[in-house]
Amino acid sequence: MPEGRQSPRHPRKKVWDAVFLGAAMPISKLHRLEAECRQGVLAARLGALSEGTMGYALQRQEPAQVFALGCGVARRLKRNGLLRSEGTRGRIVVAVDGIEICSSFVRCCDTCMERKVKHQVDGQLRQDLQYYHRIVAVVVVSTPFPIPLGIRFQKPGETEVACALALLRELDEQLGCRFFDVLVADALYLQRGFVKEVEALRREGVISLKENQPELRAEAQRLTDGPPQTPPATPPEEVQVWHAPEVYCPVADRSVRVVKTVRIQKRNRLPVRSEDCGKMLTHRVNPAQIMQSKKKVLVYDFWNDLFMGETEDEVTIAVPPRNVRSLCIVETAGVPQVLEVSDYLPQMGYGLSEVSWSEGGRTLRGQSAGASGDSYHIVFYVPTGYEPDRAIVDTKETPLVKQPKNLWVLPLTGKGKPVEWSVHFR
Ligand SMILES: [Zn+2]
Repeated sequence: MPEGRQSPRHPRKKVWDAVFLGAAMPISKLHRLEAECRQGVLAARLGALSEGTMGYALQRQEPAQVFALGCGVARRLKRNGLLRSEGTRGRIVVAVDGIEICSSFVRCCDTCMERKVKHQVDGQLRQDLQYYHRIVAVVVVSTPFPIPLGIRFQKPGETEVACALALLRELDEQLGCRFFDVLVADALYLQRGFVKEVEALRREGVISLKENQPELRAEAQRLTDGPPQTPPATPPEEVQVWHAPEVYCPVADRSVRVVKTVRIQKRNRLPVRSEDCGKMLTHRVNPAQIMQSKKKVLVYDFWNDLFMGETEDEVTIAVPPRNVRSLCIVETAGVPQVLEVSDYLPQMGYGLSEVSWSEGGRTLRGQSAGASGDSYHIVFYVPTGYEPDRAIVDTKETPLVKQPKNLWVLPLTGKGKPVEWSVHFR
């Protein structure tokens, strides 16, 4: 790739190495990366490098050439057989999704998108112009770890779906039309134009079905109401599958195949009672026995809102006289996950649904419902290496509350119907 700078003082490799290692650590700000290069963990390996130099060198790199280089690497990976996977019977599956990056009250470039937001400054509610960018990424997800194929910045006035289609066309030009076989997308992409184009590209598409397609969803629910078409439980994780081969989809004006999957994650609620004997009792709880195998688990005393930490060993808990404690025991996912929901009333149709983690977008999203007007909250466990950036509840930014020991809480108010929430991580 040609060097865009006239007389660079630092070789380009050094700049790339700094940015690459920074992303891998992960360090999300050039400012901190500069400090790490000067006197931190990268001082011995790379040496001093200012954020100005990094920005200048990267800005002078032609985006089209970086894109082509990424595609060249992807082609080589495929040629060498690294994209093959047995789980998908040889098919290469890619996912497309959009995320927001670089939101700030200071404009960073000419192509920033803008929106008005209300936020608190020194206790005062203020309206300001916020600048941000959105990118759409296409990532191979059938491999043991996700491999990005390309990204594209959404332009002002352009929808995410239009941006995704433009990116898919660019990838087709670079990689050839047989590079991947299956495209996975979020419910947002279930639109006639997108479906048509994916078919024109001769790809299979798998698109999530959510509330934004009420008729199709209701019909799919009706057709998959019976028992699942999968063999019974395979602990510790059970996946149930239903299949409706032909369901009419009004928005695409054609029939589609609907597959419903339910993944049952073992979330154990364990009541521990003291007898009515007027003294404190100590109980030992063995997670391995409850999970039926030795696994790292998160233990949460949900009535007392008390997190007892991550463990694979026995937990000792004290129960006061005439009392009960209810422990929630969840297998550690290694990524941000929901630990508990206060006011958890699954028998009344409340609680959580459609919780999913997107590693590419570093986003945890889901739906939850509470009784109308009631406040409740969702407790998240956020492992080291992830830091919550923003939480959005029904398109409105909502502050997350930091708790001790890697816990974060999202406060919510029940609306009698499910609300969509998402938490974005750095
Ligand atoms: Zn910008």
